[in-house]
This record gives sequence, C-alpha cells and structure tokens, in this order.
Amino acid sequence: MINNGFLNGLVQSLFQKGKSSTSQIENQAKPDTKGRSLPTVKFDPKRVHNPEMAANIRNNVQTIKCIGWCIGSENTKEVEAAVTRAAASGRNIKMLTDELEHTYGITRKCASFIACDQIEKATSQIAQREELALGLVYGRWVHGRGGKHPRPCHVKANGKIFKIAKGMFIQGRWVLPGMDINCRCIWEILLPGYQDFKVGTVPKGYKEVYPELQKCPERSPEFLYGILD
Ligand SMILES: [Zn+2]
Repeated sequence: MINNGFLNGLVQSLFQKGKSSTSQIENQAKPDTKGRSLPTVKFDPKRVHNPEMAANIRNNVQTIKCIGWCIGSENTKEVEAAVTRAAASGRNIKMLTDELEHTYGITRKCASFIACDQIEKATSQIAQREELALGLVYGRWVHGRGGKHPRPCHVKANGKIFKIAKGMFIQGRWVLPGMDINCRCIWEILLPGYQDFKVGTVPKGYKEVYPELQKCPERSPEFLYGILD
C-alpha cells in the first residue's frame, strides 16, 4: 500500500516530468477546471491473467443469463477463455463479438451485447484491482453517455464520489461503474493534492450512501434482455 504522501510526491513528479513509461499513473489529455491534466492509471490488459480476475470473469459469464440462452451453458468455459483473450488484447470488444458470432452462430446484435457487457465488467475489475494496489481510495462516477436507455440511478450517480474498494451504494447494493448489465459508466480517480482533494482528508462532497440513489425507477430485466430481439 502506498501512503498518500508518497503517492502525491509521485504524481507531483509525473506532472513535472510528463509521462513516465515506468509508472502506472499517467496524465490524461483532459484538463481539470484549473487547467491541470487529470491523472489516470495506465491500463495494462496483460494483468487480466491472475486467479482473482479468472474468478471474476467466471462469475461475470455465469451472471449474464443470455449467454445460457443463446450460446448454451455447456459452453461457458469456452466463453470465459474468449472473454479473457479479448480483455488481454486491450479491451477488444470487436474481437470478442466476432468470435462469439462465428463460433456459436448467434446474431451480431446478441454477440455485441454480450461482448460489450463482459469487456466493460472485466475492465472495471482490472482497474479496481490496480488502483487499490496503488493505494488509491476514492473515485468519481462518470455516467457513460451514448446508450439509448440510461439507468436513472446511474445518471444521478454522475459526479458523485465513492470508495473504489466498495463501489457506489445504489438501490441497496454496492456497484462499480461498468458492472451492471451493459453499463457504460466509468470513473475518474481522485488523487490527494488534486481536484480540490487535500492530502490527509476525505474528498469534499463524499458520502458513504447517497439517499437519492436508493429510489430510482429501474429498467426491468425483461427490458434489458428485450434488446436481444
Ligand atoms: Zn451505468
């Protein structure tokens, strides 16, 4: 675990020197309100190969029911391997969509739905694991625009701060951005000393539980699976 002082020093030096190939923390192109580049954790897809991520991917594949419906539950091991390969190839949704479509003869729409869902989940879990290992604690929810049917709770969660280890408490359960079915939300990491987040404090505005996220109209599972038609 890296303490805040060390992490802040690391980030300070990165901002002075620019990108570092040896560090996992790098600058992002988008500046914050004060014109500084926001830090982000460098994503290394090769880190998908570990027992914890294998268990996560197994669970993710088992959780999405339409894999059983359109691919067949007897093929879940093969699907897990395909998801792992695509995640290790750098969040490769197209590669997984092509493989699912051609191997199992399912429609492009169904293959794309499963691929997006599985890769978003794996990406969130890899990011969580790496950020916790770096000693990062807080993230800010960024709602994934672009979907036709955004979840009202995820829209409300946009901009709210949560603990990366737990996720956001939404409708009675802890959830990370990108972990709900076909969720395209992501998060921004908060670094002590940046984004008005003072070293040794809790970031301004952080709440463990936001009451307004406990009651939102939610899409029904039928609606979610209905887009496979
Ligand atoms: Zn979402």
